[in-house]
Amino acid sequence: CGIVGYIGEQDTKEILLKGLEKLEYRGYDSAGLGLLTKSGVEVIKEKGRIADLRNAVDPSIESKTGIGHTRWATHGIPDRKNSHPHQSESGRFTLVHNGVIENYVQLQKQYLQGVNMNSETDTEVIVQLLEVFVINGMTTVEAFRHTLSLLHGSYAIAMLDTGDQGTIYVAKNRSPLLVGVGEGFNVVASDAMAMLQLTDQFIELYDEEVVLVTKEAIRIMTLDGTEIKRAPYTAKLDM
Ligand code: GLU
Repeated sequence: CGIVGYIGEQDTKEILLKGLEKLEYRGYDSAGLGLLTKSGVEVIKEKGRIADLRNAVDPSIESKTGIGHTRWATHGIPDRKNSHPHQSESGRFTLVHNGVIENYVQLQKQYLQGVNMNSETDTEVIVQLLEVFVINGMTTVEAFRHTLSLLHGSYAIAMLDTGDQGTIYVAKNRSPLLVGVGEGFNVVASDAMAMLQLTDQFIELYDEEVVLVTKEAIRIMTLDGTEIKRAPYTAKLDM
C-alpha cells in the first residue's frame, strides 16, 4: 500500500500514476486518484492493477494538484466503493489513508449519526469527521488536527479541500510518509523512490505531525498547532 501527492505546474495525473507504479512492490488490491480541477475534484478509483486505473483516467483532465493511493484492504472488501480516495458527504474533502483506525466504530456512533456512509472502511470516518467539524465552525486545519487527535491507530493521510485549492493536507502516525521538496512544486510519498525522478530532497515526518504542503512551502506542525522547522535530507537509491 502507498500514498503519493503532487502540487505544482506539471501534469499531476501522470506524475501520480508513475509514483503509484513505483510503489507497486509494497502490495495492494486497488488504487485511486483524487485530482483537483477548476470545477472540483475528480476521483478515479479501481479494484485491481495500476494499469486498470491508468485506463480509467480521462487523458483530458487538467489538474495541478492531486493525491494517489494503493490500498491493502483491512476494513471492507477490496472493491471500487471501498477504494480510496474517500469523500465527505458534500464532496468538499477528499482523502487517502494507509493504516488502521481502531476506534472508527465509536467515532461514527459519537459524531456521525446523521451522515450517509459510502463505504465499509475505517478510513471514511476520518473524512466525514472533518466535514462535520468544519460545518460546526472550525477552519480546515483546526478540523484536521482535531479529527486526528481523536483517532486511535495508524495513519498516513493526504487530503484535498475544494475550498483551498492551493494545499495538500498531510498527516502521519506509525505509517511511513515523507514530503519531497522541489522548485515550484512539492510532493508527498510513502517512499522517496516514488518521487525520485522529480526531487531527491525529502523531509522526514514524525508521528502525530501535520503538514500543509503548498507549491511554494511546507509547513509542519504538531497536533496542537506548534510549528516545527526541519531541513530536508538527500535521498539516495540504495541499489
Ligand atoms: N484501513 C484502510 C482500508 O481498509 C486503509 C488500508 C491501507 O493501508 O491501504 O481501506
